[in-house]
Amino acid sequence: MKARPRANTSKDSGKKTVVAPSAHHMPLLNASGIIKRFNDFTANDDVSFSIYEGEIHALLGENGAGKSTFVKLVYGLIQPDAGVFEWRGDPVTITGPQQARDMGIGMVFQHFSLFQALTVAENIQLALPGGEPLASLSDRVRRISGEYGIGVDPDARVHNLSVGQQQRVEIMRCLLQNPSLLIMDEPTSVLTPQEAEQLFEVLRRFSDSGMAILFISHKLDEIRALSSRATVLRRGINVGTVDTDTRSARQLAEMMVGETVGYVARETPPADGDILLEISNLSRPRPTQFGTPLRDISLKARRGEILGIAGIAGNGQDELMEALIGEWRGKSNGVISLEGIDISHAGPALRRNAGIGFIPEERNGHGAVPAMSLAYNNLLTSHSLAGAVKNGVINDDAMRHAAADVATAFDVRLPNENPLASALSGGNLQKFVVGREIAKSPSVLIVSQPTWGVDVGAAMFIRAAMLDLAGKGSAVVMISQDLEEVFMIAHRIAVLYDGHLSAAIDATDLTAEKVGLLMGGSAASEALET
Ligand code: ADP
Ligand code: MG
Repeated sequence: MKARPRANTSKDSGKKTVVAPSAHHMPLLNASGIIKRFNDFTANDDVSFSIYEGEIHALLGENGAGKSTFVKLVYGLIQPDAGVFEWRGDPVTITGPQQARDMGIGMVFQHFSLFQALTVAENIQLALPGGEPLASLSDRVRRISGEYGIGVDPDARVHNLSVGQQQRVEIMRCLLQNPSLLIMDEPTSVLTPQEAEQLFEVLRRFSDSGMAILFISHKLDEIRALSSRATVLRRGINVGTVDTDTRSARQLAEMMVGETVGYVARETPPADGDILLEISNLSRPRPTQFGTPLRDISLKARRGEILGIAGIAGNGQDELMEALIGEWRGKSNGVISLEGIDISHAGPALRRNAGIGFIPEERNGHGAVPAMSLAYNNLLTSHSLAGAVKNGVINDDAMRHAAADVATAFDVRLPNENPLASALSGGNLQKFVVGREIAKSPSVLIVSQPTWGVDVGAAMFIRAAMLDLAGKGSAVVMISQDLEEVFMIAHRIAVLYDGHLSAAIDATDLTAEKVGLLMGGSAASEALET
């Protein structure tokens, strides 16, 4: 291996500080002036930066910033329209993934492609060229696994593995080809905080051995914990490469969005308010083969608070939301009551009229009808809006005004006066859907993934609006997989795991680590003792 900028490992932080790469060192990969267009849309616009051996380099940006596009170019899955890649100093055209792998580039994708019924070694054998015998392949897997502490058992069947373990199988598959650059596209989005920390340990060992890692994320805290340098993309443009040590999470966020981020934070938790929404012993069977049963769920949401429900996707979030909205009319046990009145048997319209606002996760089709104007979308959940419907006739003017008021109050940027919902960007449509519900001053707001896929600026706006609603005396129940978001605004936090809901605990008494243990299925007694 050639000379490279050697890393000093700082034992205290567990984080590497790579000696500042200088002109003396040749980058492993250098990108200059990379441009990639999709029709009229420029997804990468003059992106230039270098990655050095032994470096953990973060590629940071909001959804849609062009991160995945960039790494697909590096891995040869798509070709740039302009610009040059250099590999160890030589210009290269990366025509496909096979060439990328031959050069020494490995990539772990967000979604895994493993055969569930096969063993780890069988899966890896299928993916590697050369038809290496299973026995020697298994030996190599065991040796490399031990060397880096990856914990991959070649004989395990994939269907018995957790998501984190499956990800490590994908990493192993890359390692067997001896990469000098390992690319990971948002690897922690499917992991608990503990699994993410284990992954970071492994990645640090890789980097100690000289491997370069290009790590994509939009989570600022983990980027600061793991990487020494970060390149920030904003709308396809490279806004800079910085030493992460010298920037706060807030400064990185500002680079990402290009404006001052209005940070929100909850005030001190309110004193025990009245119970507005209560669920007692709610159970329901698995709705489909892939669904999750709800198992004896109880919660109380009080006036003035945001109750955060954390958890990894697929642990009953959709089923709980369905039960709360009143869309699920099959067999269930338990009672849902609003201000002391049993609403278990009421449908969605009755529940809305009784004072509950709902913001489902899927804004297209569920939260809003894409092919309808904003005015009609507003009417959908607001039949009782003053003046909108008189004697069964819709008052067009009143409707437009109501929608325009929501747009103004919630900073929804409209392309014209009364656009179709489908004409709005994701962040703007979500602000409209949230604004529409909050404008009705519901006594209880139930929201799932309020800022999913929304840019940082709009996300902060939405969170501030929910805090404001709680501050005015409503109760907000927020189901969210974004733990940073839960800690930012929830007063109390409960965790959904495999259809069970843990007891809600004051956020100030919790740490991300404790919540992470609950998210991974640890018993509350264990998780809360740590
Ligand atoms: P990120 O990974 O940062 O979230 P992507 O690189 O996936 O962003 O996407 C950047 C932008 O390019 C997005 O607006 C996306 O819609 C667009 N885009 C990505 N791939 C394609 C494609 N194959 N065709 C058209 N547009 C695309
Ligand atoms: Mg992406």
